[in-house]
Amino acid sequence: MTGRSGPVVDSRPLAVGIDLGTTYSAVAWVNPDGDPEIIPNALGEPLTASVVSFAAGRPIVGAEAKADQARGASEVAYLFKRSMGNPSFQFPLGGEVWSATRLSALVLAHLKEQAEAALGRPVTRAVVTVPEYFTHPERAATIEAGRLAGLDVRRIISEPTSAALAYGLRPGPRTRRVLVYDLGGGTFDVSLVEIGPDEIRVLCTDGNHELGGRDWDDRLAGLVLRAFPAEAAALEDEPGALLVEVERLKRTLSARQSAELRLVVDGRPPLSTRIDRKSFEGASRDLLEQTGQLTGQVLDELGLSWADIHGILPVGGSTRMPMVRDYLEELSGRPPMGGVHPDHAVALGAAAQAAILLEEESAAQLRLAGPSAVPAEPILRLSAPRRVSGVVAHSLGMIAENSTGDRYVNSVLLPRNQRIPCTETRPYQFELDGGGEELLEVYLTQGETDDPSTCVYLGRYLVTRFPPGGRRKVIVDVAYAYDENVLVGVTATERSSGAPLAVTVAELPEDVPGRFLQPPVRSVAREPMTVYLAFDLSGSMSGLPLNEAKRAAETFVSQLDLTTTAVGLIAFSDRVRAEQQATSNAAVIERAIRGLVVGSTGYGNATHPFDELRQLLAGSAGRRFGVVLADGVWSNQSRAVKQAQHCHRDGIDVVAVGFGGADQGFLRRIASSTEQALFTDLGELSSVFGTIAREITEGATRP
Ligand code: AMP
Repeated sequence: MTGRSGPVVDSRPLAVGIDLGTTYSAVAWVNPDGDPEIIPNALGEPLTASVVSFAAGRPIVGAEAKADQARGASEVAYLFKRSMGNPSFQFPLGGEVWSATRLSALVLAHLKEQAEAALGRPVTRAVVTVPEYFTHPERAATIEAGRLAGLDVRRIISEPTSAALAYGLRPGPRTRRVLVYDLGGGTFDVSLVEIGPDEIRVLCTDGNHELGGRDWDDRLAGLVLRAFPAEAAALEDEPGALLVEVERLKRTLSARQSAELRLVVDGRPPLSTRIDRKSFEGASRDLLEQTGQLTGQVLDELGLSWADIHGILPVGGSTRMPMVRDYLEELSGRPPMGGVHPDHAVALGAAAQAAILLEEESAAQLRLAGPSAVPAEPILRLSAPRRVSGVVAHSLGMIAENSTGDRYVNSVLLPRNQRIPCTETRPYQFELDGGGEELLEVYLTQGETDDPSTCVYLGRYLVTRFPPGGRRKVIVDVAYAYDENVLVGVTATERSSGAPLAVTVAELPEDVPGRFLQPPVRSVAREPMTVYLAFDLSGSMSGLPLNEAKRAAETFVSQLDLTTTAVGLIAFSDRVRAEQQATSNAAVIERAIRGLVVGSTGYGNATHPFDELRQLLAGSAGRRFGVVLADGVWSNQSRAVKQAQHCHRDGIDVVAVGFGGADQGFLRRIASSTEQALFTDLGELSSVFGTIAREITEGATRP
């Protein structure tokens, strides 16, 4: 900063970057030299405590509030970022009940005032950072907090991306792969980021929402309580004061080998003891190892080793602890990277992102003004990468029924670590009674397993306003999207009329997720289905045919209603193998499709898939299908036909698709009907599979 003596005279548009932290927050802007810079608070400090106190009867944010917390005042709120978007967090303060959103709005408003006082200009636009790990409700609550604070939050970006952006502003090799290790006060995120000359891309991310400096404080508090067994109960009664003191102690231990603790409880004589760094490190080693495990997972997920990484970029106040730096060196075999201030990097990156958005906006305005317009000067210094692209940390899913129709499962629609923005469309079969009041309900989730009890529920999405047309069965195509802010959006159309439908989000019923832990109530209108794709993976499928077959399988899955349909995968050539048992988890199916390889069951054509198909479909409820793909002539055709007929007799619909050297007469004999035997070109495979899936889905909606 150039000092607070006089207002900065500058007419260029202004937007700030705000790091809204669990324990501390910071605000930054891009100065007239084009460099991001922290705006210090009225005390001249770069960081402001994210603490709100009502001890004086009106809300106070920052150091004074933290002092109230330290003296054990009851009218103090802190660590509320951990409860962002959680409706059950209701904090009584100053005679009112406060949500985490409203408390965060007080912090944001305080930072806004701080920036306005320093810059001498109104500040109304901001980019606010959130942990990569924040789910939709937490992100939506952050934007709402900005709105309540009088800020137009143009973008929310993840803390690691923001830190990487700040780092990317520094000169370096053209492309750097950096692991951003972000250990803050209350959260841990680790992201692999590729910093190129034009673009910063997050490749993969993982984290723990419940792990941060606070846990190190708790370990230190544990050591203190053990040192004073007689006073432990009294100390635990005043957690605020103890926590402030151990946090101070922890910081001292980052600089010294041992530190003195002094505590006053209940007017008793002050307690004092010395705690050494070694015992603190011993008491918190397992916390470090938790971060190491998640870091290893990110590398594994991308199939990378430490040799593929330029370095680890430590971000967040807690990476100041020497044990973290030593551990990172132990993990990666090299010292952590320097160059950006761990406490400031996130706010600085957010300020850079805010400037990039302003630049984009003026470029768009210039395009409208025509070719003679004078180009605007860049706000940020030219060398910075201008494009920032992220991934989603959580898979987006919905609640579906499993293949046997006796259990609800979380079915993934958009798997995690996809690049944003992204969209996926899914069909639903649905019966309208013609009364005009119908609604289709979809429960959207964020979560990684198929267990409905482990998901975050984003809401009960209701699709309504179906065009009139009386009693009928319809297909509704529902599109799910993640936007740039990693917020979820849903739109829907009715397939036969193409009519756009209304989508609203209703409050979650109280019995969620409990209701999904009970068996589903069977509805005649939503008959379950199980489909196996059986692919001939003999030698002639090598190269392009296999790629086209995989593409066809992906198209096929995208056209099925996975709330009622389960899909499995069989490979056959010399042997036959179930590559994937039927599941309605799109992510699992897609992984199995990607994993198909020629030769896994031999290279010849000695076998057929029909016995396997019958066995796998034996326990499935509702309609059952086998879609068989063949590209050549099978050795034992008469046996295959006989076994295919067994399938037909068992009520399994066999659809046979052939291309290349496949025998058309043979296809007709293995298919359940002549219409179910299809011969096509390799280039048409995807569209043929899409049509089959649509017909299977629509067949379920025919009377
Ligand atoms: P952040 O959320 O990034 O602001 O990080 C805040 C966390 O960093 C809090 O838990 C602080 O106690 C911790 N922290 C800040 N400075 C230090 C330090 N010098 N040594 C240890 N922890 C620190």
